[in-house]
Amino acid sequence: MNGDKLLEQMHGLKSVFDDKESELTGLDREIGDGDHGVNMKRGFSAVNEKVSAGSAPEVLKQTGMTLMSSIGGASGPLYGFSFVKMSEVAKEEIDKENLMEILDVFADTVASKGKVEGGEKTMYDVISKSAGLLRESGALKLDDLQSLAEETEDMVATKGRAAYFKEQSKGTIDPGAQSAVYIIHALGEGVG
Ligand code: ADP
Ligand code: MG
Ligand code: MG
Repeated sequence: MNGDKLLEQMHGLKSVFDDKESELTGLDREIGDGDHGVNMKRGFSAVNEKVSAGSAPEVLKQTGMTLMSSIGGASGPLYGFSFVKMSEVAKEEIDKENLMEILDVFADTVASKGKVEGGEKTMYDVISKSAGLLRESGALKLDDLQSLAEETEDMVATKGRAAYFKEQSKGTIDPGAQSAVYIIHALGEGVG
């Protein structure tokens, strides 16, 4: 995946999040403040408008800066800063091997910035298992990523707004875990 293909994938997330706005907002209404769909839609609309052609690392960096400045809430800095850090390990031509490295940096950045670990019912539960999924199955299939998001359904949230719901947070997929499915799927599609 070169810069042009990556740009196409990042621009394409606008229509994905247009379609998924109500799904994500519905999840966040159950265990948050009901804005995750709007946040992601706003973020990737801005990416679609503002991120322009460049090398793969440049596209990741521009995407991160744009997400940081356009998404409010907890997810904006987590996704935004992660894309900037991912740009630092990305090659001009991202292959599967490089994407595994990139996904590891994605997970490490969310872990350190969010002070989060596995099993706390966040986006980290999907992101942290995605490099392993790519390594083991050779692809990032939507169904497999979706299964990772579904594992958060029975977890009790201990980070972010969902933590206020304590035991009541059980029974709903974490909104950020769900949005991470779409982002990682788009990255995986780029390396085919
Ligand atoms: P807000 O909660 O500020 O309204 P969003 O609704 O956009 O922000 O994002 C909520 C998502 O952010 C959660 O579903 C969760 O996946 C993620 N999140 C929140 N806090 C953390 C954290 N400390 N570490 C990792 N992810 C987090
Ligand atoms: Mg929210
Ligand atoms: Mg909010």
